[in-house]
Amino acid sequence: MEVFRELAGLRAALASARADGREIALVPTMGALHVGHIALIEAARRPGACVVASIFVNPRQFGANEDLSRYPRKEMGDIAMLTEAGCDVVWLPPVEAMYPDEFATNVSVAGVSDGLDGEARPGHFDGVATVVAKLFNQVSPSRAFFGEKDFQQLAVVRRMAADLDFDVEVIGVPTQRDDDGLALSSRNVYLDEEERAKAVALPRALGQAARAIAGGGAPEEALADARAALVAAGFAVDYVELVDADTLAPDPPADRRRQLVAAARLGSTRLIDNLAVSPIV
Ligand code: AMP
Repeated sequence: MEVFRELAGLRAALASARADGREIALVPTMGALHVGHIALIEAARRPGACVVASIFVNPRQFGANEDLSRYPRKEMGDIAMLTEAGCDVVWLPPVEAMYPDEFATNVSVAGVSDGLDGEARPGHFDGVATVVAKLFNQVSPSRAFFGEKDFQQLAVVRRMAADLDFDVEVIGVPTQRDDDGLALSSRNVYLDEEERAKAVALPRALGQAARAIAGGGAPEEALADARAALVAAGFAVDYVELVDADTLAPDPPADRRRQLVAAARLGSTRLIDNLAVSPIV
């Protein structure tokens, strides 16, 4: 596995992989890797693929009062995990190279970025769209892999790639969960033992609401029950909503693909999760 910290070296290596007939697959991450990230690497691997993982804790997607300075970093462990997972190239750009002083461009995706996490975290999805646009231009992948765990992010990236004619297939990978159902996240390390035990209320509340809605229950009632269950478990709820899985528009009709999306805080840790509402057949 090759590790690059300079764009010229990365581009030369990828040009040579392309010249050998290999297709480039990109897995963008912020490091502090876990099994959820590795599922993306595994989805990206296939014969003839050159799998590139980027590790970049992107300052532009953190708000002023968010956890940029304490975000977990474990570069050596990440590189070991990526080697083990069969990743071919790691791209580790320095912040100053990504955003030199004169950097002046912002990529903003209207609509899908606006509600939910976009409302709770102003500017977050502009930061995501801007860095993903840069990564797409740096790596020029034919396929790029993103977790469904960050459901709104995936929708923003899909919209941006289509709108800006990036010649890349954006592929969503199902959420990987711990044994009790909690979605794996780099931020789970912030949870102490007591909080970790309470955190399972999030996937449980979504599961219960999904079953109720799929069974014909009124969405507003199921959402209210889910919010109440989270508060009872000790969460402060940012939102629990039912949205159109493609557009993220609220109040989706039952004949659309519907997704439950939630964000809630346990102490200083903010967790997000989502779940499809599948019709009961
Ligand atoms: P992050 O490092 O948290 O920015 O995540 C990098 C990529 O991994 C994003 O596309 C995430 O959606 C994805 N990811 C994070 N956690 C999970 C998970 N539990 N299951 C699947 N994908 C995930």
